[in-house]
Amino acid sequence: MQDTDATTTGPLAPDDITADSPFTLPGFFADLADGQLVAAQCTECDEHMLPPRPACYNCGSRAVTLEEQPRTGEVISYTSVNRPPSAFADLAPITVAVIELDSSARLSGRVEAPLEEVSIGDRVELQVCDPEAIGIDPEFQLSYEEDWPIHVFKPV
Ligand SMILES: [Zn+2]
Repeated sequence: MQDTDATTTGPLAPDDITADSPFTLPGFFADLADGQLVAAQCTECDEHMLPPRPACYNCGSRAVTLEEQPRTGEVISYTSVNRPPSAFADLAPITVAVIELDSSARLSGRVEAPLEEVSIGDRVELQVCDPEAIGIDPEFQLSYEEDWPIHVFKPV
């Protein structure tokens, strides 16, 4: 979050959104690579947006602020993906879950556990990894994703 003004209110016009704005996916992943998990929160209705969006998808307000999120939360829903995207093929089958963080923001992602070891309500902690460190072939990533970190939820 290099732009402190951007942490107090969302961009009000499209021209205010630069490529590295924290309200874009590249900006979100740049913050994540720096160790910050950032969500937007609507000041009108309290809806969380993770990754951040420049307008609330619940009420449409552009009065959104950015807030660093806790890394811990619990499994809300989960499933097994037997044929994941190519980059994750060697890890198949993978467990994918919707996690409600302790702030109540929700984020989906892979859980580092087999399906039969995961239950609704399980506590997990988000970890940010270098893709190659967990066996993901960078050749299968889209070019704009190459510098993006991979997040995974580890059971705690
Ligand atoms: Zn709202």
